[in-house]
Amino acid sequence: MERKITKQIMVGDVPVGGTSPITIQSMTNTITKDIDSTVNQILLLEKYGCDISRSAINDLDDAKAIKIIKEKTNIPFVADIQFDYRLAIAAVENGADCLRINPGNIGNKDRVREVTHCCEEYNVPIRVGVNSGSLHQKYLDKYGGVCVDSIVYSALDEVEFIESLGFYNMKLSLKSSDVNMSIGSYKKISEMTDYPLHLGITEAGPAYVGTIKSAVGIGSLLSQGIGDTIRVSLTAAPEEEIKVGKEILKSLGLRTEGVNIISCPTCARTKIDLISIVTEAEKVLENLNKNLNVAIMGCVVNGPGEAKEADIGIAGGNGQGLIFKKGEIVRKVKEEDLLKELIKEIENM
Ligand code: SF4
Repeated sequence: MERKITKQIMVGDVPVGGTSPITIQSMTNTITKDIDSTVNQILLLEKYGCDISRSAINDLDDAKAIKIIKEKTNIPFVADIQFDYRLAIAAVENGADCLRINPGNIGNKDRVREVTHCCEEYNVPIRVGVNSGSLHQKYLDKYGGVCVDSIVYSALDEVEFIESLGFYNMKLSLKSSDVNMSIGSYKKISEMTDYPLHLGITEAGPAYVGTIKSAVGIGSLLSQGIGDTIRVSLTAAPEEEIKVGKEILKSLGLRTEGVNIISCPTCARTKIDLISIVTEAEKVLENLNKNLNVAIMGCVVNGPGEAKEADIGIAGGNGQGLIFKKGEIVRKVKEEDLLKELIKEIENM
């Protein structure tokens, strides 16, 4: 997969685009001006590996809270603005590292111009975020409703207006809850501009379904070299979005930090309660900052051999199991101690 090299922008101190690593974002669901709750949630997101967080700015108190939230957190803060251009300006003045706006929702061009000038003055990038639910009527009419072309040309209109003001510090998102439409829109705009792209499938749904839709949509774009930063949208706790985002990047070899669990699907040869062991191991290892492939396999016959590339692993036997490293058996352990001993070995690596 050859990555499309886009223009690089800076969201706070985090580069987005160009050859910089693909970043993971999420969005808080606290009341932003409830500073303690918002700070705690951002700190939790940081712990899970979030690179950039976003919060909705619904009133002036939310905008003013940005300054204090930023003092207490460590990752860039993106202010999400729906309609009120004055809140966009207040957010930038209070230290937002990026503005997410849908210029079409901000109102007339004068307001977009004012917001853009403010971003220019503070050197803050804008994410032009176009959603399939808020497209230009002229393109809906021209292309017969919501489709790839009406999404792409609505976005390009916004981009061209902002460019006409001499501002190029932008990234773009073109979101739809329809996976095929999202893929098509991002592919098309990727051929038409060099701005970094923020990938996401909007309103993807609850954790299970949303994870699959996001993995298919975001994953297929990334596998074609498209995309610079990602946000998985789930009806779930925000840290779940980070977990899924990390796995999408890891599965494509785009992020290596953290433990990669390899486990077999179980079969009639499975000798231990593999599903419970893997479920528990996943919880224990989810935030471990070591680049390791850990294999958890159901039988000693095929387990170590099938997981030769793993750094470490276990393979179940009758009432016991083997711990192996790089496919070589190192010792035998009772079944009830397998997970504990595996974790101990991993901690010593
Ligand atoms: Fe079955 Fe063993 Fe393969 Fe697991 S590793 S699926 S238990 S044969």
